[in-house]
Amino acid sequence: MKTLLLGSYLLVLALEMVLRLIDWCHQRRCQGQVPPGFEAAVTAETLEQAGDYTLGRKKLELVESVAGETLFLLFLFTPLLTGYDRLASSLSNSPVWGGMLFFLGLFGLRWLLDVPFSWHRTFRLEERFGFNRSTLRLWLADQIKSLLLAMILIALLAVSSLWLVTATAHWWLWVWGLWIAVSLFLMVLSPYVIEPLFFSFKPLADEELAQRVRRLMERAGLQAGMVLQVDASRRSGHSNAYFTGIGKVKRIVLFDTLLEQMDREEVEAVLAHEIGHWRLRHIFKRLVLSALVSLGGFFLAYRLIAWEGLPSLVGADDLSLAGQFLVLFVAARIANFLTTPLSAAWSRHHENEADDFAAQLTRRPQALAGALIKLARENLANLFPHPYYAWFYYSHPPLMERVARLQKLRSISPEPPQA
Ligand SMILES: [Zn+2]
Repeated sequence: MKTLLLGSYLLVLALEMVLRLIDWCHQRRCQGQVPPGFEAAVTAETLEQAGDYTLGRKKLELVESVAGETLFLLFLFTPLLTGYDRLASSLSNSPVWGGMLFFLGLFGLRWLLDVPFSWHRTFRLEERFGFNRSTLRLWLADQIKSLLLAMILIALLAVSSLWLVTATAHWWLWVWGLWIAVSLFLMVLSPYVIEPLFFSFKPLADEELAQRVRRLMERAGLQAGMVLQVDASRRSGHSNAYFTGIGKVKRIVLFDTLLEQMDREEVEAVLAHEIGHWRLRHIFKRLVLSALVSLGGFFLAYRLIAWEGLPSLVGADDLSLAGQFLVLFVAARIANFLTTPLSAAWSRHHENEADDFAAQLTRRPQALAGALIKLARENLANLFPHPYYAWFYYSHPPLMERVARLQKLRSISPEPPQA
């Protein structure tokens, strides 16, 4: 039985590696080329930098993934897991509290492994390409705050879920309900409780831009929510814009770095794209799908936990409840890998729909194309993903495709007269 799970997991890791490898070679082959549509906006120097940055990031991701997966495999498929499981169980008589310690300990170990990589990413890679604006002190504070937050969340979720598993007959329904409730609650709470722990938000300083954003929202048939700017530049030079929250608490957040880089028309185009996701109910559709998938997942978990052969999948005779859930986590990771292209394709479809929506709403597809090119240039984005890699993983169509698509729309969507 052990060979089945180990073999499938190794196969997934090997496929991931092959995809990385072909993407890497493609990137090296294309380095220095100027993509069509980008001629006026990027210099040869920027392109070279973007290529180096992409390769640097990919190298770091590769080392991190190989280190993490090797340690995880060693832990899972050797007597280490049974030893660790016994240790956690010996600390408490209850499978609920013992299980909580099991997960907290594992998360703590994973965090320890991640810290040096995070340091290297911020103070070596990002620093080298001029993106890092964080100080060691700020970075340390961020690490500790996120560790504590995650620990609290894991402890609460583990205790309540494991308690439901031990105390109710059809626990899969109850645990599913709990997880849905917690996710929705976090979505509502996050802008007010979690995000302010890291960033400070204030109303958009550019009053004219704020007015334009409100008019844009009205044209899209939406009530104008809060338009905020966030001091992302304290940590990094990367730029972005996003919507958070559900229902009435939805807010529009613009990175101060984005405001530095783009003109008002381009910011408007980026927001029109975000409004598109909102109006076309993309976020809602994804939530519904993931709720349905997780319902199926919890039902399967319910059936598999009842199967006494489960520990044999990792070569163990016996495992605590928490240990058995860890085995299921590995199975879920394999299933997740197999469905990645489907989920990515659906997401890319939504991105195209949101681009079309933005082009119609602003009647200036070229503003969005310009904004995307600027985002690519300023963030040294990867312009040359291998088509297979992009097809498998990319949640957004590759930038070149998006720009080319918008430039085609330009011919069918004439400029409105300037107001
Ligand atoms: Zn989007």
